[in-house]
Amino acid sequence: KLRLAVLTSGGDSAGMNAVVRAIVKTAILKGCETYVVREGYEGLVRGNSEAVSVASPPREHNHHQRKESLLVEGDADSFVHNLRFGDGELLRDGTSDHPAGRTLKGRYIVRVGWDDVRGWFTSGGTLIGTARSVAFRTYEGRLTAAHNLIKEGIDAIAVCGGDGSLTGADVFRAEWPKLVAELASTSRITEEQHKAHAHLRIVGLVGSIDNDMSMTDLTIGAPTALHRICEAIDNIDSTASSHSRAFVLEVMGRHCGWLALLAGVSGGADFIFIPERPPEADPWEDEMCRNIQRHREIGKRKTIVIVAEGAHDKHLTPIRADYVKEVLSERLGLDTRVTTLGHTQRGGRPCAFDRILPTLQGVEAVDALLEATPDTPSYMIGIAENKITRVPLMEAVKMTNEVTQAIKDKDFDKAMSLRDPEFRE
Ligand code: ATP
Repeated sequence: KLRLAVLTSGGDSAGMNAVVRAIVKTAILKGCETYVVREGYEGLVRGNSEAVSVASPPREHNHHQRKESLLVEGDADSFVHNLRFGDGELLRDGTSDHPAGRTLKGRYIVRVGWDDVRGWFTSGGTLIGTARSVAFRTYEGRLTAAHNLIKEGIDAIAVCGGDGSLTGADVFRAEWPKLVAELASTSRITEEQHKAHAHLRIVGLVGSIDNDMSMTDLTIGAPTALHRICEAIDNIDSTASSHSRAFVLEVMGRHCGWLALLAGVSGGADFIFIPERPPEADPWEDEMCRNIQRHREIGKRKTIVIVAEGAHDKHLTPIRADYVKEVLSERLGLDTRVTTLGHTQRGGRPCAFDRILPTLQGVEAVDALLEATPDTPSYMIGIAENKITRVPLMEAVKMTNEVTQAIKDKDFDKAMSLRDPEFRE
């Protein structure tokens, strides 16, 4: 029976809870034992410290009677969410030694069941926590992480995060044989454990509001972030039109202009700045002003300019919202305001597609883990032309890094064609 754990890592995004929900439910239906790892890779490294947990008598399982989740309170430790975890009604085997009644303090790898992930569709962010883990970047940290997983008997992990998190997943899997050999040779695990855990199964799902991963059309959280921006533009719109003002909106996207571009399309923006495609004209100020002036002349009462946070000109000089405001005020005499949307883009209730995509991908992720062999690569679950796909995780990360490199090299045509192979001038 496969013991499968899911974790969320890196920046949070809407839909991460739906990933956990889909993976837990699918895995239970397919006969696995399910776990969550709290606080991303940091939780793997911290593991379960028996010393601080309070043992409680084992609970009776009654398969016929619907029971509540076993409620275990979090505590005041700032690193610990006040979450309640337990084994759900569909936990059929009745033999689990679920740590019912133990405090979650010091427990990062937690057995969960069906009930535990009920209602997780509607909350934004990630209920199991996420973190950026310095320790996991080190060999020692990963050795401890491997030990913690083996102690819990876990054979498979699903990681939902951005390109950094997926790189970490690949590093961990590639290193796994070495890690377990070292744990066995130093007697931290038995020879039986070594044999039973000779390989680690890993799968990646992309949780990122920026839609910045190559080899997939859409990342989990990007549609919700786009909705938030679109709503913000709508809200600004009425004021802009009433007062005939200009608004400069800064949106997220360090290396990827997807949010800015699509927000511009859905909000009817006058000018958009994205990292992959700096303005043609150099300097660009005249070009922007000419466009906006033309729109004004044909009767537009408002102006919306969208600036991705990573936007720059052809020389990689950053283009900041405040500077764009100055240009619009001084050259066109427009009453201009800047709105930086910041974290309002990240949070909140996931839109429908950020529930559907993680659900479909969660099912595929569990299948990928069940079918994994030592010879198959670690897969990233993607979506291409409306079909859920499996692509080798490292190829996707490599291609994503190539886009960033092309931008740094000022090869913007390459950056655009890597983003979209059908891109033409
Ligand atoms: P975002 O897109 O929001 O930045 P991300 O997943 O790319 O998300 P990172 O901070 O790059 O976020 O990575 C998350 C975590 O993954 C890191 O804190 C680290 O623990 C782990 N990680 C990243 N790269 C590696 C690596 N090369 N080796 C081991 N672990 C890594």
